[in-house]
Amino acid sequence: MVEHDDDKLAAYRGKRDTGKSGEPAGDAETSDSGDGGRFVIQKHDASTLHYDLRLESDGVLKSWAVPKGPSTDPSDKRFAIMTEDHPLDYADFEGVIPEGEYGAGTVLVWDQGRYDNLRAGKQSDPKTMAQSLEEGLVEVYLHGEKLTGGYALKRIEGGNEEKSKWLLIKMRDEGADARRNPTSTEPKSVRSGRDLDAVAAESDDN
Ligand code: MN
Repeated sequence: MVEHDDDKLAAYRGKRDTGKSGEPAGDAETSDSGDGGRFVIQKHDASTLHYDLRLESDGVLKSWAVPKGPSTDPSDKRFAIMTEDHPLDYADFEGVIPEGEYGAGTVLVWDQGRYDNLRAGKQSDPKTMAQSLEEGLVEVYLHGEKLTGGYALKRIEGGNEEKSKWLLIKMRDEGADARRNPTSTEPKSVRSGRDLDAVAAESDDN
């Protein structure tokens, strides 16, 4: 076990028994990658199906549950609710969280890649991810396998904390496409090529 000098993951650990759930315990060494970093969008067939958007920042994955998932149409505003910070190695997690555990259900990696913090590159008044999260305006450029281009997260209620309410909006750029509907047409994992049923079935075999 790695000793932690902070309790950023206290909420994560408090909600689950990772020995039973099979999820990462969050013990991996973390490195400070500066601004930008990894992102992942996990499709999570829990009590209600949703997508979890996670952005690496300051050694954890900042996380939002997005009930309808991301859109590539800039006219869509997708509701997102901030959830507890997750450990960095959660970005690799696919599997089934057993019945009775927090978030019980099947998880697959729907999209992944690197992201850039667009606000850090602004000539006037650049903002770090930490400042963006505090202000409630996050602008990132996703380099994913399904999603590319800018996305804005705008906070509409609450602070930089669990259960705050946000909107996830595609920015108008080369990645915008009102006709694409990737959550419907590209349902499978970018890690394993599996759909939710296949992930669940292979978990049953274990
Ligand atoms: Mn979830």
